[in-house]
Amino acid sequence: MPANILNLPTYIVTRIEETDHDYHVYAQVKDAPCACGQCGSTQIVGFGRREQMIRDLPMHGKRVGIYVDTRRYRCRSCGRTFYELLPEVDEKRLMTRRLVKWMGQQSIKRTFASVAEETGVTDTTVKSVFRDYINELEAHIRFETPKWMGIDEIHLIRPRCVVANIQNNTVVDILKDRNKKTVATYLFKLDGRDQVKYMAMDMWNPYRDAVREVLPQAQIVVDKFHVQRMANDALEKARKSMREQLTPKQRRGLMHDRFVLLKRERELTPKDRFLLDGWVKNYPVLGEAYRLKEGFFSIWDSQTPPDAQKAYQAWANSIPQELVSFYQPILTAVGNWHREIFGYFEHPITNAYTESLNNLIRVMNRLGRGYSFEALRAKILFAEGAFKHTNSKPKFERQREAPAMKAYEVGYGLPEMNELFMPSSAPSGAMSRTVAQPPPKVPVLREPSTQTEYLQKNYGVDISTLARMIENGEI
Ligand SMILES: [Zn+2]
Repeated sequence: MPANILNLPTYIVTRIEETDHDYHVYAQVKDAPCACGQCGSTQIVGFGRREQMIRDLPMHGKRVGIYVDTRRYRCRSCGRTFYELLPEVDEKRLMTRRLVKWMGQQSIKRTFASVAEETGVTDTTVKSVFRDYINELEAHIRFETPKWMGIDEIHLIRPRCVVANIQNNTVVDILKDRNKKTVATYLFKLDGRDQVKYMAMDMWNPYRDAVREVLPQAQIVVDKFHVQRMANDALEKARKSMREQLTPKQRRGLMHDRFVLLKRERELTPKDRFLLDGWVKNYPVLGEAYRLKEGFFSIWDSQTPPDAQKAYQAWANSIPQELVSFYQPILTAVGNWHREIFGYFEHPITNAYTESLNNLIRVMNRLGRGYSFEALRAKILFAEGAFKHTNSKPKFERQREAPAMKAYEVGYGLPEMNELFMPSSAPSGAMSRTVAQPPPKVPVLREPSTQTEYLQKNYGVDISTLARMIENGEI
C-alpha cells in the first residue's frame, strides 16, 4: 500500500497514478461507520459501493483527483440506506475542504482562470467558491464604523465610491457606484451609524443627499484638495485659451509653462521664477491667472471659518473681468457648497489622510485587469496583512503551533491561514443521501473565538500599507 501522499489521516490510499499533468489517487475512508445516522442502530450491513471523484489541492504542480471508493449501508432497524460520509470533503462541491479554502484565498490574489487551470475545475466553480469565501469573510470581518468618515471617488474599471476612516487612515469599504441609492443603503446598514460625526466628501450631490438623509447628525466637510484643484483647472483653461491666440514663435517662448504655472509659488526654483517673470511681463493676463490660483490656495491658510469667508470674498472680488469665465466654476461650486467648504475650517481633515488617499488613487490602476469589481474590492478589503487593529493583544500567529494544524499544512505549502476564516461546520444538502447523519467532527484549523479575535477592533485596511502592496504587486 502506498504511503498516504494525501496527508489526510482519515483516508487510506490504495493506489496512485501519475500523468504529465495529474495525480489520480485511489483511496477509501479509514474508519467505517458503526451506526445508522438516522436511528442510531448499530445493525447496519454493507449495501454496495460507488466511486466518487473528489478534487484536492494541486500537488507538485499537478492537479489532484481522489477517487474514493465510498461504502453504502442498509440499516436493519429502520430500513434506510446511506453512504458513509467523506471526512474533509465539501460534498456540495466534491472537493476537499482544504481545496475550497485554498481556492478562496487564491481567487482573491489571482484571476479565476489561472486558479481554474491549476486545479482542473471550471472558471464558474472558482467564481462560486470565491463568492462563498467573500461572504464568509464579510460575515467575520467587521470594521469599526468611523466617527470621521470620508467618501471619495476611486477608479476601478468605473468610478466607485471609496469609504474611509479619516482618523485611522484606513479604507472600510468600496461601493459599486456613486449613486445616491447605493451610498444611502450602505450608510443605513452601518452599525452605529448615528456615531458618525463628520463626513468628508468631494463635491458630488448624490453623496451629500445621501448623508443628509441617512446621517442627519453628521457634519459634512469638503476636503480642501477637492476645492483647490478647481483653481488649477481654471488656470489651465485660461492658459490654453491664451496660447491659442499666439503665433508659433510666441508659443515656443512658453515652453514648460504648464509645469511651472501649476507649481505653488513657494516651490518655484530660481529658474522657474525667472521664466515666470518673463511670461508675466509679456502676457499680464497669464500673471493674473497665476495670481488668482495662488490666491485661491492661500484661502486655506485662514484659521477660522469667518476669516476664510472674508479671504474668499476678497479673492472673488479681485477676479478681473477677462478671467471671470475661467473661474466661474469655482464661484458656482462655492455657492452650492458654501457651508460644507467653509466647514472645513472648523474641522480640517488631516493632510496625511488626503495624501495617502491620493496615493492610493494613483496606484490603483496597477491592479491587474481581468478582474471583476467584486474581486478587486475583495483584494482591497481583505488584503492579508493590511488591517489596522488596536494592538493591545499579542499577534494571532502565536496560536498557530497547534499540532492538529501542522498536520494539515506540512508538505502542501499552504498559504498563510486567514485567521478569521473558519470552514463551514457541516456539508449541507448532500445529494442522494437517504440518511441525515450528524455532521462529522471537522478539524477546526484554529481555536475559534479566542478573546483576541473579538476584543480587537479592526479599523479597516491601512491605506498606506495597501498602496505599498499594490505598488509592489503583492495583491
Ligand atoms: Zn436506522
